Amino acid sequence: MRQDSRKRRVNAQRALILEMIEASMQKAAEKGPHSLTRGCNCIVCVNRRKRILAGPERQWRYRL
Ligand SMILES: [Zn+2]
Repeated sequence: MRQDSRKRRVNAQRALILEMIEASMQKAAEKGPHSLTRGCNCIVCVNRRKRILAGPERQWRYRL
């Protein structure tokens, strides 16, 4: 059925993403602490790059 194949495709994509995250975490564990490296796909570098792309965080303010 159509619905079934769609579900299967979504599940396959999820499995792939999980595999990628798993691999990047494994890589980070193997490399150990290191600074942001160009071309490094470990989870730490990917997250750092994401943060840089997102730009500086807005200053958090509150008023009582
Ligand atoms: Zn890295």
